[in-house]
Amino acid sequence: MLDDQVMYDIFCPHCNKRYLVGSGSIDSFHNTSEGPVVYVKCPQGHHLMRHFRSGQTSDAVDANSTSSPAKEALAS
Ligand SMILES: [Zn+2]
Repeated sequence: MLDDQVMYDIFCPHCNKRYLVGSGSIDSFHNTSEGPVVYVKCPQGHHLMRHFRSGQTSDAVDANSTSSPAKEALAS
């Protein structure tokens, strides 16, 4: 039986480069309201987020940091 390994086409904004990575580079898989999302590491170790529905890859760190200013505004 063939080992049919899935390859993902990702774009790393840090490296400014496209990579083809295998399932071994995937950190986690999530189902969100925007569709399936995978957290994947580029070969240089950058954490990225890939949206399956749009096919876009974005920086996973950015998504987390945008939520903190809103919390501070609520507290004051
Ligand atoms: Zn990278």
